[in-house]
Amino acid sequence: MKLTKEQKKEIEEQQSQKNSTKRVTSPELEKILYEALPVLDHGFVRVVDYMGDDTSIVQSARVSYGKGTKKVSTDSGLIKYLMRHRHSTPFEMCEIKYHVKLPIFIARQWIRHRTANVNEYSARYSVLDKEFYIPSKENLAAQSTNNRQGRGNLINGSQADEILNLLKDDAERNYKNYEKMLNEKYDGSTIDESKQGLARELARMNLTLNAYTQWYWKTDLLNLLNFLSLRADNHAQYEIRAYANVMIDTLKKWVPITYEAFMDYRVGATEVSSKGKHVIKKMLKGEKCDFENSQLSKREWNELMTSFGFNEKII
Ligand SMILES: Cc1cc2nc3c(=O)[nH]c(=O)nc-3n(C[C@H](O)[C@H](O)[C@H](O)COP(=O)(O)OP(=O)(O)OC[C@H]3O[C@@H](n4cnc5c(N)ncnc54)[C@H](O)[C@@H]3O)c2cc1C
Repeated sequence: MKLTKEQKKEIEEQQSQKNSTKRVTSPELEKILYEALPVLDHGFVRVVDYMGDDTSIVQSARVSYGKGTKKVSTDSGLIKYLMRHRHSTPFEMCEIKYHVKLPIFIARQWIRHRTANVNEYSARYSVLDKEFYIPSKENLAAQSTNNRQGRGNLINGSQADEILNLLKDDAERNYKNYEKMLNEKYDGSTIDESKQGLARELARMNLTLNAYTQWYWKTDLLNLLNFLSLRADNHAQYEIRAYANVMIDTLKKWVPITYEAFMDYRVGATEVSSKGKHVIKKMLKGEKCDFENSQLSKREWNELMTSFGFNEKII
């Protein structure tokens, strides 16, 4: 990830400002406020603003006049209880605003999360950056044979080089044609004084999906947790997971108690159906229980066995 001199200066200026407030702040998050945290080859996540901390959740749950805090241990117990029982509205009292730079094909997945406020960089108004996401070799995998939405074995050797070259060449060629249609180079210089440039809103349509876009993305803590539990999960594609993982680090700095509860009751937890529960109960009692009489599908059975570490998977 490369920032221009101007961008670095703007961030430094933001970081050096000091404002006094009567509101609660999160000291650890304050330390990284405005910083561009690198993701993928050219992307980043920056926390640009936030409201509330763990005590705000407690305060709203108790509808108290003051801070709402009794003791850290009591707060932690209450937040865990709220998380466990999906008593969700107190988590909506905290908000966070990110500035994110991400490839367009990942932005398409991200934008499906409707419970956020978004403002995207306008490619009708400005020329998009000349930067494309090219996966690293360890992320260049073949189509999975057992999961239509996933990746299988790594592709390596000359085939990997060929794919990487295709991705790079196509992105660069399309960007060159984008500049040609705009009649303007990325650095702002005109290509041919005798010609008019095509409108930016039209020229952008031939750009490849690995071009980077940017947006401000603001959401409340409840919906952030929903986003993170779906997108940091290993069913999500690697590229969006890379963003979710960096955001989980910001969550830890912002609301450490909620982070602990989230990792325990969401990320590390397993949802078990009533049929699945029946199977596990029988197994724990040492009773005979196999796939054929479990009433589970093959996929459900295998997921259940994996979750509980039983070596009973079927092929
Ligand atoms: C691994 C994975 C694979 C996916 N594959 C596909 C795919 O193949 N095709 C595809 O189209 N999408 C796909 N998605 C997107 C997915 O279906 C959701 O649209 C996305 O994850 C947003 O989740 P959400 O609705 O919970 O989030 P948000 O939109 O932020 O909504 C949060 C919650 O608010 C409530 N809510 C919001 N809007 C409404 C509404 N209009 N009506 C009722 N309740 C609402 C719901 O309870 C929802 O859970 C995939 C997501 C993941 C994580």
